[in-house]
Amino acid sequence: MKRIVLLRLGHRPERDKRITTHVGLTARLLGAEGMLLASNDPGITRTLEDVVERWGGAFYVKNNVNFKEEIKKWKAEGGKVCHLSMYGLNLPKVSSKLRACEKLMLVVGAEKVPPELYQLADWNVAVGSQPHSEVAAVALTLDRIAEGEPLEKKFAHAELEIVPMERGKKVLENKSE
Ligand code: SAM
Repeated sequence: MKRIVLLRLGHRPERDKRITTHVGLTARLLGAEGMLLASNDPGITRTLEDVVERWGGAFYVKNNVNFKEEIKKWKAEGGKVCHLSMYGLNLPKVSSKLRACEKLMLVVGAEKVPPELYQLADWNVAVGSQPHSEVAAVALTLDRIAEGEPLEKKFAHAELEIVPMERGKKVLENKSE
């Protein structure tokens, strides 16, 4: 089974709360097992844990990690590291290599990332060689490397479940045993 984890760097609690939360939600939706946050902002963990509680799955957040230690540990366990940056090789050129990884860490920045990250990463990958958003970069990458249809995945132990429909809204409220 493939394992994907997301490492978020450079989060500034005073201005990046919403975008980091969206990075985490997008990673969860598209198959990542968890997010490592290389900043101290416990509110992000609380928000995402609350989503997991209600909407299911086992996505986790590890707050205030040391990014170099996490990368070192991941690589020592045989994992590969893909840093998303508009300066890297374009995603269509490397997506098949990423898809073939059994353990993949995706790294996204907020402000400028430490230059050594470009050396620590196995791949520096651009989702198109233009500036845009870390949320879009994570979404497109995970969608391009997914096996099967990631948007149809069901989340285990969900209290809330949406019934897709053409019009209107229907949400099932599952009782926990
Ligand atoms: N100003 C920052 C810099 O010079 O590195 C980048 C800011 S950008 C909004 C934040 C993050 O989004 C980047 O660190 C990168 O992870 C991601 N990102 C933005 N555009 C990207 C692209 N075209 N391809 C891959 N990742 C991208």
